[in-house]
Amino acid sequence: MVHHRKKNKDLSKKIAEERIQRLFELAEQNFHDNPARTHRYVTLARLISMRYRVRFTRDEKRKICKHCYHYLVPGNNCRIRLKGQTVLTTCLNCGKQSRYPYSEKSDLNHSNHQNPMFD
Ligand SMILES: [Zn+2]
Repeated sequence: MVHHRKKNKDLSKKIAEERIQRLFELAEQNFHDNPARTHRYVTLARLISMRYRVRFTRDEKRKICKHCYHYLVPGNNCRIRLKGQTVLTTCLNCGKQSRYPYSEKSDLNHSNHQNPMFD
């Protein structure tokens, strides 16, 4: 007997990752017109991540509030500050802050003022 369980599991993880990615896209697209729907997409993405034990990517994690799990858009419902080597995100929905390590590679390229995170 050949067992395909391992392979199937990998496949469903991959599908889960793609679905999460898609849900984040939808969340972003709906944010302005339908924030409630955006929140549902994020909630669904979290459920999939827990169900399949798939982690959000670093970028996905930073798009949602660690405390209330709302989708965050800088200049709209969150504020972003740099504090030393830390990126400080204040969620205007719950008022709490999340900290992320500052990463020179992609977060804050000083020669690139077009970074959407800091628009
Ligand atoms: Zn929050």
